[in-house]
Amino acid sequence: MSVVELHDVVKRYESGAEIIDALKGVDFSADRGEMVTVTGPSGSGKSTMLNMIGLLDTPTAGVVCLDGRHVTDFSEDERTEERRSELGFVFQDFHLLPMLTAVENVELPSMWDTSVDRRDRAIDLLRRVGLGDRLTHTPDELSGGQKQRVAIARSLINEPDILLADEPTGNLDQDTGATILDEMSRLKDEENIAIIAITHDEQLVEYADRVVRLVDGVIRT
Ligand code: ADP
Ligand code: ADP
Repeated sequence: MSVVELHDVVKRYESGAEIIDALKGVDFSADRGEMVTVTGPSGSGKSTMLNMIGLLDTPTAGVVCLDGRHVTDFSEDERTEERRSELGFVFQDFHLLPMLTAVENVELPSMWDTSVDRRDRAIDLLRRVGLGDRLTHTPDELSGGQKQRVAIARSLINEPDILLADEPTGNLDQDTGATILDEMSRLKDEENIAIIAITHDEQLVEYADRVVRLVDGVIRT
């Protein structure tokens, strides 16, 4: 069973008289231990597709299953819980809180969970992305690549099944981008998670186990 499944997913945006079909019946799946990149022209529906999987928006029609569960039927509370416990997010512009240290940024998504030693897990993750000597640095004291490593560590703190990345190397130079991808690929194997990453970056495609191309709301493989 695939950890992510989309069945005939349609997303229609209606703003005033304008109707935009951003996704026109998308079938997609991703397995644990697999890194899939989603490419395609601007406006082809990549972010909309990621938002469906990340439970940030709901489809107009079709079914989304995460780990075999029909999340399309979930209540808002269940979606929030699912996002927190099963999904990790990485963004182009890092989304780190500037007043917090690296280790505090990594711990932040797990603050609700009192059952584990968050600090130990955060430190372990930062060490594993090569930032064991940057634990108490704030984001403005870190390079772009280091900031993205903090964001990747943060995305894994709640031990998700699925990591969603929107242009993770978009703000990085080519060499740094390659290092980040290498790291994501390694963590994917270590944690046995699925990674789904939007990219324009040809380099990212090389690290992928599979490439999916969206054109005008339809998958062309
Ligand atoms: P991509 O990520 O491939 O650039 P998007 O998924 O952002 O594409 O957008 C797909 C289409 O849906 C575009 O035509 C975009 O303008 C439209 N769209 C995206 N979000 C909204 C929204 N919230 N309201 C109306 N139209 C939207
Ligand atoms: P890169 O070559 O990866 O872009 P930088 O040249 O930006 O890296 O930074 C090199 C080193 O200096 C990094 O290890 C980073 O932690 C440190 N550094 C960068 N900016 C600051 C800062 N404002 N204060 C303290 N240390 C910093």
